[in-house]
Amino acid sequence: MAHPFRALPDAGGRNGGVPAAAGRALRGFWALILPTSCVGCGRHDSSLCRPCRRAFRRATVRPFRAEAGAGSLPLRDPAAPQTGAPPGADDADGGFEPLPVVAAGIYGGVVARALLAFKNAGHTDLARPLAAALGGALLAARAGLPADPCLLVPVPTRGRSLRRRGYDPLGLLLDGLRRRGELPAGSRLARPVAHRHPGVRTGVRPALMPWFSSARRGGQKGLGRRGRQENVAGSMRIRRRYRGRLGGVQCLVVDDVLTTGATLAEVVRTLRAEGAAVACAVVLAATPPPSGTESAYSEFRRNRRGEG
Ligand SMILES: [Zn+2]
Repeated sequence: MAHPFRALPDAGGRNGGVPAAAGRALRGFWALILPTSCVGCGRHDSSLCRPCRRAFRRATVRPFRAEAGAGSLPLRDPAAPQTGAPPGADDADGGFEPLPVVAAGIYGGVVARALLAFKNAGHTDLARPLAAALGGALLAARAGLPADPCLLVPVPTRGRSLRRRGYDPLGLLLDGLRRRGELPAGSRLARPVAHRHPGVRTGVRPALMPWFSSARRGGQKGLGRRGRQENVAGSMRIRRRYRGRLGGVQCLVVDDVLTTGATLAEVVRTLRAEGAAVACAVVLAATPPPSGTESAYSEFRRNRRGEG
């Protein structure tokens, strides 16, 4: 069968634009200067000692539906199939349902520590366990979608974050899964969505408003739900070579952490405006929902424990 994505540009292993040699050099540098203590418990060992590795695996081995606490998610596509494995508690509700999001684990404990060390402290040696967790969530989400080919679309990284870190954390995980043949069958990794202005938060050019870009350097961190929504509104675009080629294409949006869902919503909005069908999103970890939605959250935690 001809693959309908064959004509679309491949995501490739560009690692988000950083030359591979520079990325390797930087990772080597970090490996030299970082003390080898476990990011989970702090004891001198590898980056993730065996007990913490086991704890990480236990916390991420059972993907679950995490959309309940994320107030800024887009609505579920009414035309999309009502599946989205693993099943969520609200599947039968009808009406205004949020986009289903499958998470590998809850953003806390060893999962949060490993993810933070990987993203912000140069611990790229944690890519394998993190990628395994993300891969499991991707498989679970893919299993709930129609057999039609599926485009895996990562939330784009900002040029500034890329320069600061020297690597694109999410891209590193997905490229690793792709290289090892561990992406779900019938899916393909592509990067059709980009930031409109990689240097600043919204569509304001830094040359016109220099104070704006420096004031907003903190990204989404520390912003409330409203702030996050405003911060990302209109901030993304479809890359030129994908324009007019995504109509009816089944897309699965991938991110590392789900908080309010504002960033995911912007990527989904951008894809849908281009005619793509987005039925589901996948994240490595989801933050616990704010108080008030605790019951729904406890419920799906209970469901998780009840499984298997
Ligand atoms: Zn440990």
